[in-house]
This record gives sequence, C-alpha cells and structure tokens, in this order.
Amino acid sequence: MTLNSVPLAELAPAKINLALHVTGRRADGYHLLETLVVFAEFGDRITVAASSEDCFFVDGPFAGDVPRDAGNLVLRARDALRAAYPAHAAQPVSISLEKHLPVASGIGGGSSDAAATLRALSRLWRLPADAAALARLALPLGADLPMCLAGHPLLARGIGEKLDPVRHFPALPMVLVNPGIAVETPKVFRALASRDNAPLAPLDSADTVLDWLATSRNDLEQAAMSIEPSIAEVLAALRSSGAAFARMSGSGATCFGIFDSAAAATRAAAAISNAHPGWFSTATVTRT
Ligand code: ATP
Repeated sequence: MTLNSVPLAELAPAKINLALHVTGRRADGYHLLETLVVFAEFGDRITVAASSEDCFFVDGPFAGDVPRDAGNLVLRARDALRAAYPAHAAQPVSISLEKHLPVASGIGGGSSDAAATLRALSRLWRLPADAAALARLALPLGADLPMCLAGHPLLARGIGEKLDPVRHFPALPMVLVNPGIAVETPKVFRALASRDNAPLAPLDSADTVLDWLATSRNDLEQAAMSIEPSIAEVLAALRSSGAAFARMSGSGATCFGIFDSAAAATRAAAAISNAHPGWFSTATVTRT
C-alpha cells in the first residue's frame, strides 16, 4: 500500500448553530436538540503528510489553548481510524493543526478539527471508508462530529446524530465575535432553565431565512449569559454595527451577526475589533 506522497490540507470550518432548541433529555443525561447548522468559509486548517514517524504540530493564534497530547481530538480521530482500519492505516503520519478558531467557544472547533482529520487521513491512507462509515466511527468521539463531517447546511436532531441536509440554503455574509472567554458546555447545560421546549418550525413556514430565524431561538443563550454576561455586550455590538440578525452559537460564547453584504460584514468586523481589542472578530460567509 503506497501513501499519497503530497501533503493534503483540509479546512476545519467553524460550525454555527443558527437556531438551537433543546427539546428534551435522554435517560442517560444527553440533551435532545433540534438545530439548524451552517459552516463558515473560516476555520482551522489540518494538513497531513506521510512521515518517518508520527508527529503533531500546532500553531496559529489559538494554538496555546489546545492540548498537544493524546487528548487532542485530532489525535483521537487519527487513532480511531487506525483502530478501525489497521491494515491500511499503519504508516506514520505528520499532522499539522493551524488553530484559528477560539477554543471552547460554541463553534465546534475541536469537532471540526477531528472531522477534517478523518477526511484528510482517509484520503492520505486511501481508506475504503465511505461517508457513512466515517460518520459511524466519528460519533463516539463527539456528538457534533457527524455534522462536522457533512460540512454543509443541515438540520440535526437527537443528540446531533440524526442529520437532514438542507438544500439550496443561501450563503449568508456573517461576522463571528467572541469576547475572549472560554465557556464550558456542561456548565451551560446545568444552568438551563427548561429542557423541554418546542421543536423548530419547518423551514418552509417562513418566506425568508431572517423571517424563519425570528421564529426560532438558541435555548442555551440565556443560560450562557447567566454564566458569562459579556455575551450580551457581544450581541449589542453586532446589532449596533448593522447586523440584520444576531444570536449566540452553540453553548457560546461566540455570537454571529448576519449582514446584508460581505462588504458590510467586513466593515463591522473591523469596527468591532477596533472597539474591543481583546475580542476575536472576523467576517466570513457561510458555505452552501
Ligand atoms: P461545541 O460547539 O461542539 O460545544 P466548542 O467550540 O464549545 O465546541 P471546542 O473548541 O471544540 O469547544 O473545545 C472543547 C474542548 O475540547 C476544550 O476543552 C479543548 O481543550 C478540547 N479540545 C481537544 N482537542 C481540541 C481541538 N483540536 N480544538 C479545540 N479544542 C480541543
């Protein structure tokens, strides 16, 4: 078996929960969700290459916030592939992670890195793994991994494993803003007032995406704000910079603003960066 000899790079895009309803809780404690998820053209970058020994490099603006040992989801993804395909995946590899996404911030950085690693290594090792096989292997690494493997607009249900693609969803000019504070997801779920909310309305029940968004919520937003009040400041900054719509993603603290144009998003991201030098702020567009 020969490896691909050139390095292979994959974007690990930011995952954005445009709406997230907590609809219940399973007996094992996992929360049941309904969420409309999109992915940004902005994210981390995973590069894999054949090597004489296994190695792992991390750089980029948030490199200091992620583990470099076997606890990193990138290495857990590599090891899960090795365990599932021992005959094909024995050869050593070098993996580089360029970390551009703030960590523990509600935009799925770790899950997206792991999904990009699965995609890149299955190409490098030429694994006989189709998308369904990768998704099965991914779920034990994290409930958000199957959606990050898909990488396109989708509705996720259950604990995040039941996925329905959303076709013809528009590209949304967007600004992502994080106040520079990590928020632990389990803490937000513990602060959640109600775990039994109405499901999402059907997407075709409104004329425009913005009209539909107005019918929906992020049920974790209040809970996250009670832990980290600066989330309210982030939302206010997005709205006063011209966002047509602003909401928190996932369990926070990153919030997204939707803008009328890419130029308006770029201007708003720059204005927010100038006004709040300690915040992370970037303009992007969602993938279709
Ligand atoms: P989600 O939106 O899925 O809740 P998140 O954006 O809130 O995710 P992550 O950035 O994925 O959170 O980080 C969650 C935890 O995973 C952190 O405590 C971090 O130390 C750990 N982790 C392990 N590997 C990575 C990685 N490659 N990137 C980011 N975090 C990682």
